[in-house]
Amino acid sequence: MGMSTAYYLTLQGKRVLILEAGIFGAGASGACDDMILFQSKKPGINLELAFESLELYHALNVDLKHDLGFENYGGMVLIKDQKELEIMEEFVQQQRMYGLDVVMLDEKEMRKRQPHISSRFIASTYSPMDAQIDPFHVMYGFFHVAKNLGLEYRKKTPVVGIEKQGNGDFRITTQSGEVFEATQVVNAAGTWAGEIAAMVGENVPITPKRGQIIITEKIPMVGETNLWSAEYLVSKLRPEVKTEISEEHKALGLGFAFTRSFGGNYLIGSTREYAGFDTRTTMEGVNAIVKQAVSYIPLLKDIHFIRAIAGLRPSTPDGKMILGEHPDVPGFYTASGHEGDGISLAPITGKLLSDMMCGAPSDSRLEELSPVRFAVVKGEQVQ
Ligand SMILES: Cc1cc2nc3c(=O)[nH]c(=O)nc-3n(C[C@H](O)[C@H](O)[C@H](O)COP(=O)(O)OP(=O)(O)OC[C@H]3O[C@@H](n4cnc5c(N)ncnc54)[C@H](O)[C@@H]3O)c2cc1C
Repeated sequence: MGMSTAYYLTLQGKRVLILEAGIFGAGASGACDDMILFQSKKPGINLELAFESLELYHALNVDLKHDLGFENYGGMVLIKDQKELEIMEEFVQQQRMYGLDVVMLDEKEMRKRQPHISSRFIASTYSPMDAQIDPFHVMYGFFHVAKNLGLEYRKKTPVVGIEKQGNGDFRITTQSGEVFEATQVVNAAGTWAGEIAAMVGENVPITPKRGQIIITEKIPMVGETNLWSAEYLVSKLRPEVKTEISEEHKALGLGFAFTRSFGGNYLIGSTREYAGFDTRTTMEGVNAIVKQAVSYIPLLKDIHFIRAIAGLRPSTPDGKMILGEHPDVPGFYTASGHEGDGISLAPITGKLLSDMMCGAPSDSRLEELSPVRFAVVKGEQVQ
């Protein structure tokens, strides 16, 4: 979010400095899958902005003069029983009404596109729109163009204090004691955005949701599309429906995602765990991912995996990002809380925020994303 916002701000002639606590891609954006995924999104603002973000990605693929690893294999959500089928049929219907190109496939059609999946699946969805992009290449693409336009970037520079001064400007202090002054500040600290907001007395309720994934060696394409399983989606959309997810998988928040990355390695995941700010992978998580993957696509038992990684998804209480200015602290903006959608939504987030910061007319659609919804009033939190 920081790099995207910086890019769009420098395009509009702003002087921008990024203060990064770690190294390039130190947060979730450097430890995630690579999907511009539509099928997982409920009809509403997230899906609407994802469509706009895809348009921006098409433009960025040219404007950034850098190969972003854009691919468009499409995606299928695998369904294993009648209960999941009914829920997914209804969900697909809603998504179609919202303009998503997605259909249901019966077992025969599903196996035509994905001959290697196990016999436990009875149907699937299919959308040709699900696409992907390489997050590192996107960050580098933004960085190089913005740098030529004057972006300054400091790595290993954690921000430890922000103070609003009498003249309205901000005084930002880093861990090494350096001090910077700015008229506007963007809090794009992902999972750590709550800590940054607290520096100016604001409430940004972000909870880290750890996601572990494994990465395979380079292998030929498995079937025609990327894959997910419906069970996680169903438990997220309809928590009241009893699913057959085991207690262990529930605790790990295990959901199946199988995507071919830029370069030919597969990313297989993932967990959704509440593990605080711990970014380590675990034996339990990796074992569960491997076991599930082999039972869903048996040919994977002969494939080697080369790495496991974990990142922290920044999640909010209502599942929507927090985007906009904090009215009690004029000039202070937050762009965080994208949970598992930040790669899809990065360009549109940066574009909308930079427009806001440069005085564009307000966009009423964005009111539901405003930090105002979590503002603390007289010691009481609104939500
Ligand atoms: C396993 C996994 C799979 C995912 N798959 C997908 C996917 O397929 N598609 C998708 O759209 N999204 C996906 N996501 C979600 C996506 O990765 C996140 O939503 C997105 O990366 C969040 O970006 P961000 O810029 O808000 O946060 P981050 O990338 O975490 O960046 C925040 C930055 O702030 C820095 N920082 C923190 N504190 C300070 C401080 N005090 N001072 C200075 N800097 C600080 C951090 O070092 C970090 O670099 C996935 C996430 C995970 C974990």
